Amino acid sequence: MRQVVVHKYGGTSVASPARIKRVCRRIASVARNHPVVVVVSAMGHTTDRLIELARKVSPAPPARELDALTANGETITAPLVAMCLQALGVPAISLTGLQAGVRTSGHHSKARIMGIETQRIKAELDAGRVCVVAGFQGFTESMEITTLGRGGSDTTAVALAAVLGARVCEIYTDVDGIYSADPRVVVRPRKIEYISYEEMLELAAVGARVMHPRAVEIGELYGVDVHVRSSFKKGTGTMIVAQVPMEDRNRVRGVAHESNVAKITVRGVPDKPGVAAALFEPLGAASISVDVIVQNVGVTGATDITFTVAEDELPQAVALVQRANREIGANEVLSSGGLAKLSIVGTGMLGTPGIAARMFKTLAEQKINIEMISTSEIRITCLVDRARAEDGVRALHTAFDLDQQ
Ligand code: ASP
Ligand code: MG
Repeated sequence: MRQVVVHKYGGTSVASPARIKRVCRRIASVARNHPVVVVVSAMGHTTDRLIELARKVSPAPPARELDALTANGETITAPLVAMCLQALGVPAISLTGLQAGVRTSGHHSKARIMGIETQRIKAELDAGRVCVVAGFQGFTESMEITTLGRGGSDTTAVALAAVLGARVCEIYTDVDGIYSADPRVVVRPRKIEYISYEEMLELAAVGARVMHPRAVEIGELYGVDVHVRSSFKKGTGTMIVAQVPMEDRNRVRGVAHESNVAKITVRGVPDKPGVAAALFEPLGAASISVDVIVQNVGVTGATDITFTVAEDELPQAVALVQRANREIGANEVLSSGGLAKLSIVGTGMLGTPGIAARMFKTLAEQKINIEMISTSEIRITCLVDRARAEDGVRALHTAFDLDQQ
């Protein structure tokens, strides 16, 4: 079969009938020469509206029903796009996640794609039809409907590109690429032409909202390059690839910030094996991701553990930690919100000493206090007061020569 082309269109690109028509004209021109799979998101802010609706009838909507509800956003877009294509004379068919064979784990609202049964899509492509697949949704072994987490249509698209053997997955969005920092925060952001999967993953994990992290992981795993570009502007965007050109390798590539951060401190934890596991297992079981973790050196048989969670998951996390705490016999659980993470990312860090020092000094000059620090090989993250986060981003962007000349 000829190279399959996979396009994904995000919510803003399909927010209105006029935008759907415009997207379909682009698809029509590609479909003349290639088999095309199009993955679509829910129109505009549909997903947010559905979640609001759920909260109006239930204080804590059960995850299963919430998925059954929110999956409908994408289920609406796909047939609209398919019928619009047909009206333009392009043979097309819409497919739900189930029809497209997207099998997932059972973690509602955070499901992972376990595999894609491609027979149906392949048959449709062979018959010369464009497949318009509802992103974000899948189904479990027991035929439950799941969703992949906010922004999860990206993941549907890259996973489909992987199983269909596409070299590139084109992610059409409302921005024309990945920037060195949030363009709403810094004055002269730089558009990144090439970024490695690794760097993108780190950036996405610490607040750069452009791509769903799982999508990048799948791209890396299966060698699918991801092209993030604008559906409104012509021209190329950012390519997420395995190897970036030489001149980009030796530097910090981006500054990211994430505001929805809270911390939990467990004081007087007995300093013995199994305690950290006892604390974190219940959080994992409840699908609460724990982030920056710091454990102090034990003094007189006890230690303190501090970690961060998303602020909107704080109440649930505190309740779980308090319960675990009663079992392990720690002293007390403290928690506070109002924090933000500031991170710098770049594979260049690997061979360049002094980057951490420059980051800390830059924040010190801004009189921004660092509450916690965590690092990976290519990232340094500082936890700071949320009110100062944007000042920090601007200062770091300048300090690491990222301002567009
Ligand atoms: N509609 C979902 C969301 O708003 C998934 C997506 O857009 O990728 O998060
Ligand atoms: Mg998105």
